Amino acid sequence: MEAASSKLLERKYSPTKSISANGQIILPGFVDPHTHLVFQGSREEEFQLRQQGASYLEILRKGGGIMETVNKTRETGKDELVSISRERLGTVMESGTTTLEIKSGYGLQPYDELKILKVVQTLQKLGPCRIASTFLGAHAIPPYTSQEEYSRIIIEEMLPAVSQHRLADFCDVFCEDGAFDEDASMKILKAGSRKGLRPKIHADQLTNNGGAKIANDLGAISADHLTHSNMSELEKMKKTSVIPVVLPASSHSLLNHEYAPARDMLTMGLQVALGSDFSPSNWTLGPLTIAAIAARELRMTSEEIIRGITINAAKALGLDRSIGSLSPGKSADIVVLKAPNHRWVGYTYGEGLVDKVLIAGREEVSGGRRVT
Ligand code: ZN
Repeated sequence: MEAASSKLLERKYSPTKSISANGQIILPGFVDPHTHLVFQGSREEEFQLRQQGASYLEILRKGGGIMETVNKTRETGKDELVSISRERLGTVMESGTTTLEIKSGYGLQPYDELKILKVVQTLQKLGPCRIASTFLGAHAIPPYTSQEEYSRIIIEEMLPAVSQHRLADFCDVFCEDGAFDEDASMKILKAGSRKGLRPKIHADQLTNNGGAKIANDLGAISADHLTHSNMSELEKMKKTSVIPVVLPASSHSLLNHEYAPARDMLTMGLQVALGSDFSPSNWTLGPLTIAAIAARELRMTSEEIIRGITINAAKALGLDRSIGSLSPGKSADIVVLKAPNHRWVGYTYGEGLVDKVLIAGREEVSGGRRVT
C-alpha cells in the first residue's frame, strides 16, 4: 500500500532531489511556543546557588537573577546580540525546531526593549527558522521604580513604539508575586490588545496569582506555566480556547519539583502545548529534552507530547493553519528522526535522534548538523 502511494506520488511529481528516510520516522518540524532566546551571558553560578537551596524569588530580591542578565544585555549592541542569537538558533534547528517564539524582556527600558525586538526582527529576516515575536517589557520591575511608574512607561512609551514599528505579534506579562500583580497585568495586556498585540501571560508559575483567570477573561492566545492555577480556571480554557503552554524544563531547572497538572488538563480535553522556556535560568532548548521531562514528570504519552511540540504549540502562536502538521497546503517543515517508532519521543532525551530537518522543503540539518 505504502509503496503504491510512493509510486503514485513519484509519477505525479518529478522531484529535483529525493531524501531517503528509510527505517526512520518523519514528524512535523517542532514548534517551541515560549523562549527568551535573545540575551547576553549565562547564569550558571545562580544554578549552583539554587542547588544549595536558594529560591528564584530570593535570588531576584538580592538583585541577582534577571537583573544580572538585563545589565549585560543593555551593555550589548544589536549586532552582537544578533550574532549570539544566530548561534543559539543553530542549536535550535539541530534539535528539530523549525518555528519558535522569542520574547523581549531583558531590556526593561524603552531603548533596550526595542533593541531586543529589532534583533528578533533581524533574525526573522535572516531565516530560515520561523520566528514569532513577543513583547515582554513586563518581565520584571526594574529596581528604583514602582510597578505603577514602570507600567506607565510600558503603556505610554514602549507599546506605541512596538506597535508603530510592527515589532511584535504578542504582548506578554510576568504576573507573579514580586513582579506584576493582577491589576497591572490586566492593564498592560489590555493596552497591548488595543495596539493589535494578542495577549499571552506567564501565569501562576510560582504562586497562584490569578494569571489563568486573566488569560480566560481577556481571551489570551495562550497561558503559560500554569503550575499553581485553579482547576476551575483550567476547565474554563475549553470554552475560552486559551491554549495552555506547559513548561516542564523550567520547573526542572528551578529544582522545585512543582509541575503543571498536565494530566488533568488532558483529561479536561485541553490542547496542551509544550515549550522550552529557554532563558539564562533554564538553559534547555531541545524539544526532545522537553519531551523526556514531560514523559517522566508529567506522565504525558508520546502521542500527547508530539501534539504538544507540534500542532498544539503552533496553535499557541496562531500559526496552526500553516505549520504544525504534515498536511496538504501547509509548509513542508519536517524533522526526520533516527528511531524505529514515534514512542522514542519521550523515551530518550533525544541524544543523536535528529537526523534531518527541513524548513519549507529545504534541508537545513543533515546528519544532525546544520547545513551551511
Ligand atoms: Zn518564560
